[in-house]
Amino acid sequence: MQEFIKNLPKLAKDKHNENKKFFAKLKSKPPKNLDYVMQDLHDAEFKKTDCLECANCCKTTGPLFTDKDVERIAKHFKMKTQQFINQYLHIDEDNDYVLQSVPCTFLGADNYCSIYEVRPKACREFPHTDRKKFQQISNLTIKNVAICPAAYNIVEEMKKRIKL
Ligand code: SF4
Ligand code: SF4
Repeated sequence: MQEFIKNLPKLAKDKHNENKKFFAKLKSKPPKNLDYVMQDLHDAEFKKTDCLECANCCKTTGPLFTDKDVERIAKHFKMKTQQFINQYLHIDEDNDYVLQSVPCTFLGADNYCSIYEVRPKACREFPHTDRKKFQQISNLTIKNVAICPAAYNIVEEMKKRIKL
């Protein structure tokens, strides 16, 4: 797994043009059963990929924090919302709350998330490969294959399974 993660940016770069073409076609003519296919590919991949052996998303990118996320996590720490923001977050160029630094401050050395039960929605949903109308997040997915080994494998399987 570690070797795969290390090579992922290069592997993703090599597939970039192929993936762009595939997702452009997918967007213009998504198959009717796309939601079903994605759920199937997502479930099959996460049966064999253990996020606890990876945590590359937590180490390299970190999530956006919605207002609800901020309120919930601040409450978990018994902190005032503003105090939590000041201590852990900053506002990025898109005006979203993000972590002040990566790896995520809530990630343990054992790759466990110390706020797992109350973690941000974006963490729960990453890499979004079981999302409905998956073709709508093509650009994000093309970026995520360079970070997430599971997303990389899922996109490779998609290209085999979905003939456009
Ligand atoms: S979601 Fe992807 S990048 Fe994050 S820990 Fe799981 S396999 Fe790794
Ligand atoms: S909050 Fe938890 S799941 Fe989200 S990036 Fe941090 S360690 Fe990972």
